[in-house]
Amino acid sequence: MIKAYLIDLDGTLYHGRHRIEGADKLIQTLNEQAVPYLFVTNNSSRTPQGVADHLNEMGIPAEASQVCTSAVSAAEYVAEESPGAKVACIGEAGLLQAIDEAGLQRTEEKPEYVIQGIDREFSYQKLTKALRWINDGAKSILTNPDLQLPSDDGLTPGAGTIGAAIEAATGVSPTVIGKPSSIIMKSAIERLNLRADEVAVIGDNMRTDIAAGAAAGCETLLVLTGVTTKENMDNHISATKIRPDHVFDNLHKLIEWLSQHASQASKKG
Ligand SMILES: [Mg+2]
Repeated sequence: MIKAYLIDLDGTLYHGRHRIEGADKLIQTLNEQAVPYLFVTNNSSRTPQGVADHLNEMGIPAEASQVCTSAVSAAEYVAEESPGAKVACIGEAGLLQAIDEAGLQRTEEKPEYVIQGIDREFSYQKLTKALRWINDGAKSILTNPDLQLPSDDGLTPGAGTIGAAIEAATGVSPTVIGKPSSIIMKSAIERLNLRADEVAVIGDNMRTDIAAGAAAGCETLLVLTGVTTKENMDNHISATKIRPDHVFDNLHKLIEWLSQHASQASKKG
């Protein structure tokens, strides 16, 4: 039985600055049913508070404690593997804060880890530093593998593109935290204090949300509000070799399903 949900953001609840029809109602429904949920995003530049603010501005109620970013998950992953480790950071505010809050020590001297996310001030100099740190034995951690990001004036390179440059320079493949990796989902599931089979993932992207959810052992709910459409869904299914457990044309259909699910669950007691 599903006890909680992990919900994707871009393409599922909003497009850029525009709320997707039904997104506010979806969150309201979960709140009314007292079903726990977390927002799970590959975005590593925003802090959880920044993500919550963005949702609130669009009329979708959210608190920082409900936000799981790839930056927070990356920092928690390193802190669990090596508490208080010395880490070098290539990234923005969200990643810097996550590293500090996980009790890791930020340094550019002999780091044990290089944690890299999106860094819009990435440079040849930073690439050189990363090459030398990793060559000297630092472990390479990539917050999320997204190669391209949409922006108001067109595509921009994502954290994965910077990661590809570092990987090319070092010959070392990073540990990837964000979707489609199951690591971000596992850290969210841990925060919920549930088992994977008690959690369902809601997302618009077969190759990231649904793949990560399936890899983590969660039930998967695909919404056709973003990347995946009725037309391209079969291509995505054959490319990923994963079939989502449920598919919804829009968020209203998902809300109907959630309401039925909740009433069945309450009957079962
Ligand atoms: Mg999405």
